Amino acid sequence: MADVEICDVRKSFGATEVLHGVDITIPDKSFTVLVGPSGCGKSTLLRMIAGLEKVTSGDIVIEGQVVNDVPPKQRDIAMVFQNYALYPHMKVFDNMAFSLKLAKVDPTVIEEAVHRAAGILNLEDYLERYPRQLSGGQRQRVAMGRAIVRDPRVFLFDEPLSNLDAKLRVQMRTEIRELHQRLQTTTIYVTHDQIEAMTMADQIVVMHDGIIEQIGAPLELYDNPANVFVAGFIGSPA
Ligand code: ADP
Ligand code: MG
Repeated sequence: MADVEICDVRKSFGATEVLHGVDITIPDKSFTVLVGPSGCGKSTLLRMIAGLEKVTSGDIVIEGQVVNDVPPKQRDIAMVFQNYALYPHMKVFDNMAFSLKLAKVDPTVIEEAVHRAAGILNLEDYLERYPRQLSGGQRQRVAMGRAIVRDPRVFLFDEPLSNLDAKLRVQMRTEIRELHQRLQTTTIYVTHDQIEAMTMADQIVVMHDGIIEQIGAPLELYDNPANVFVAGFIGSPA
């Protein structure tokens, strides 16, 4: 578990700057939601926190350590994507065990870690199935299981529910919050859906065109939006 600081981070692709000096403090054990319209820079910021993308300037700080030059594997961060990114030819068990096998973790320890994660996510009966034999919600749980088994310091979620139907999306919001309640792992959750942000976050970060418009608890943003953009975005129906 860890706190994360984003300090005056800028990002350019070629001549185009897409993040214009972003400052965010993510407290240890918090559930922070980055919300904003498509194209505002959410995934880019998340990828920089994971180390999959370099910052152009500024610092990413995890537990007091600047990690700008630390490779992704050494950051101890696990990321869950929208498209699940499961390996279709591997059973659920092997999907969840994969990163531990790569890290040459002892097989009995892997076995334990996978069964523990499967227990938390209600996947114990599905470990011998292939991803194509699972429902959308089960696949998303496997994707989360792959992140949990590593017991990371930080979880990053990039629009994990956008491929699910409306009913399942609501159910999975609760499941993800319960998971956080249980593990208390610092979580940064990206969505373009303001209802998801309002119902899930301890802290919401509203982004727009590469800048932060406002940071606050859901009710703070609702009662005291900093500007017209935040008021319109948080107040509008899904
Ligand atoms: P979001 O996740 O909020 O939808 P992104 O972080 O994906 O936004 O993208 C922010 C901006 O950066 C967009 O204008 C996008 O086109 C641009 N962008 C993202 N990745 C790249 C890349 N690898 N090369 C060039 N432009 C990119
Ligand atoms: Mg995105």
